[in-house]
Amino acid sequence: MIDLHKKNMQDNIEIETAFVEKVPNGTDTSVLKAKENNAKKFLCASLAVIVAFVGIVCGLVNKRNENIIAQQKIEKIENKQNAVNVVAPVTPDATKTVGAQAPANSTKPESTTKAPNTPKVAKPGTMDKPTTIKIDKDKWYLTLVNAGYRIPSSYEPDLVYVCNSGQRLDRRVAAAYEKMYNAALKDGATLTPCSGYRSYERQEKNYNRKVDFYKGQGYSEQEAKKEAATRIMPPGSSEHNLGYAMDIVCADSWFKDTKEFKWLMENAQDYGFILRYPEDKQKITGVIYEPWHWRYVGVETAKQLKESGLVLEEYLGVAK
Ligand code: ZN
Repeated sequence: MIDLHKKNMQDNIEIETAFVEKVPNGTDTSVLKAKENNAKKFLCASLAVIVAFVGIVCGLVNKRNENIIAQQKIEKIENKQNAVNVVAPVTPDATKTVGAQAPANSTKPESTTKAPNTPKVAKPGTMDKPTTIKIDKDKWYLTLVNAGYRIPSSYEPDLVYVCNSGQRLDRRVAAAYEKMYNAALKDGATLTPCSGYRSYERQEKNYNRKVDFYKGQGYSEQEAKKEAATRIMPPGSSEHNLGYAMDIVCADSWFKDTKEFKWLMENAQDYGFILRYPEDKQKITGVIYEPWHWRYVGVETAKQLKESGLVLEEYLGVAK
């Protein structure tokens, strides 16, 4: 093989030499070289364009596949919900349900909901002009709050203390939390309530402090508000203001390495709780990965979200 290779190399050298020798007298060889270099440059540029084009096409195909997968997940949920409808008789009152939330000043919310049985949800607002919501009595547990959807400052949940701790939750959520707490305890995991309900005023204070911190770092007002909201939700947009969520054990990233976190990942959906801000959904939720933050959405929805891997925004069809 090596000999053959050497021979090929020699042949190439000979061919090249022959080419140079056959140049007619008087022809400037530097002109030929320049032409050759230009041809090479053109070839390289062409290759670069082709590679870039292939890259763009692959990117588009990947994006399309992601959309298809997300759509399939939603369709799967729709099919399940339709199957439930067949066996569950629909009462006349149930058909009047307008959803978990509607704009506070409107009785006819615009809907972008995809799954038929999920409540109609108003269009999301922005950081500066959030949509103010009111909570539906029937599907209260699906109430979506984030930077674009906020409850009014006047909202007052019915609160009770949880598991003999100093933390409070919405009475209905507290009952589910106690059930989950006791089940985990039997398995050797202690789901200590760390931070439950927070008042609108307290949220406002915490959030403003964070905004000031980022402004001190040189951020503009707008940027500071946006950055702060990835860590501390603006007042009215936190699930802690609703009394639907509990920070369990602590509010620190090491929680993900505990047996309590492992237990929650395996069992929380059976008690109606979800990991609200997963690591791979930060672009959709707008919030950093929070392994300690567990939100109540009801057992049926929690199981569907767990199975599909969707977050609440996707489930309700308002993911940006
Ligand atoms: Zn939290």
